[in-house]
Formats: sequence, C-alpha cells, structure tokens
Amino acid sequence: MEKRQFQAESKRLLEMMINSIYSQKEVFLRELISNASDAIDKIYYKALTDEELTFNQDDYYIKVVANKEERTLKIIDTGIGMTKEELENNLGVIAKSGSLAFKTENEIKDGHDIIGQFGVGFYAAFMVADVVTVISRALGSDEAYKWQSEGADGYTIEPTEKDEVGTEIILKIKENGEEESYEEYLDEYRLQTIIKKYSDFIRYPIKMELTKS
Ligand code: ADP
Ligand code: MG
Repeated sequence: MEKRQFQAESKRLLEMMINSIYSQKEVFLRELISNASDAIDKIYYKALTDEELTFNQDDYYIKVVANKEERTLKIIDTGIGMTKEELENNLGVIAKSGSLAFKTENEIKDGHDIIGQFGVGFYAAFMVADVVTVISRALGSDEAYKWQSEGADGYTIEPTEKDEVGTEIILKIKENGEEESYEEYLDEYRLQTIIKKYSDFIRYPIKMELTKS
C-alpha cells in the first residue's frame, strides 16, 4: 500500500505532538470529542434544510470505549463521516486558518502552553497514541475507508467495511516510558474526569463503554 506524506506544515505540528511538548496531554480527548460533536452538528444543520433527512436526537451520540487489554481507546460518533477525499484532505493537512498556526508558533516560542487555549485539533491524538486509525463512512455513501498513521512518516488509506455512517477513531495508546505513563488514558474514572472537565458543553450524549481490563 502506498504511503502518503503529510504536508510540510502538518508534519511539523505532528512532530511536536508526537514529542509531546505540551504538558496537558489529556486535551487530546477534548479535541476528538469536539470533532465528533462538530460532525453530528453537520448532520443536524443539514437536516434543517434537507427534507430527505430527519434528525432523531436518539440516533446521535459519541461513544468512548477503553480496552486495557488491547491498549486501545476508541472515540466513536454517528456524525456526518468522511469520504476518502475528505479523509485525505482533512486529516493530511492542518487547518490553515492561519491564526492557529500563527499562535501555535508564537506561543511555543514564548514557552506558554497554548493547547489549553486553542484547539490544535486531531493531531493531538498523537500525544498519547503511537498508531491512530480512523474508520469513516460518509453520509450518503455505502463505502467506508480506513486512514491510518504511525506519525510523521505519513499515512495510508484503504477501503474497509462499516455498517453505519459516522467515524471511529482508534488510538493505540503509547507504552509507558521511563518518565511518562499513559495508563491513565485507559482508565474509566480518569477518562470520565477528563470528559467532565472539557466536554460539559457538548450537546450530544457521551456514552462510555468498558471492555474487560
Ligand atoms: P478543526 O476541528 O479545527 O477543523 P481538526 O484538526 O480537529 O481541526 O479536524 C480537522 C478536520 O477533520 C475537521 O475540520 C473535520 O473536517 C475532519 N474531522 C475530524 N474528526 C472528524 C470526525 N469525527 N467526523 C468527521 N470529520 C472529522
Ligand atoms: Mg477539531
């Protein structure tokens, strides 16, 4: 399978994330949950104008699943999903609104912890995971794709199967290092605390599922 390269700017941000220069690694979960929520919002707003589409509140939720044995943490949503092109364009490139990139650069030079103030987005996943897999099926499509990356050396995209529209992010949580422990990101109580701290404002239910530890 062909390995694709991240854009240069994205690669730099990604490298920072991988090297975990930020002290508050826990915010990765805020970023992924807010993306999940944004994806559900997109269906919600589409349903307002699209007569073919109805929005049943009960069908839309975010699920967080920790598996200590596999060392995986999944963030699942029933949002709008991504096509192959969207996976490529949205996850291979950092949001180039300019202001974020600008602030990121400057605050880092100042030694401040910018991540608490500004979303750095999807790549925050690489602070706690050494492999990130995104399985997604876009609204209106019966095709699903799997995007996978182990970090700065690129990513792959291949067809896969997915029964429902939406996105599943699978984080392979890093092994503990000499100074760092990542165990906490597989611990239900710790995860609940992080979710409460950052995701109180999320309008959709966040369900938590535990597999045997
Ligand atoms: P931002 O949320 O500021 O746009 P991110 O880095 O967090 O930046 O995400 C990049 C893009 O990837 C999003 O704008 C969105 O298009 C897409 N994306 C990320 N996560 C999801 C998801 N769970 N469902 C659908 N699209 C997503
Ligand atoms: Mg985001």
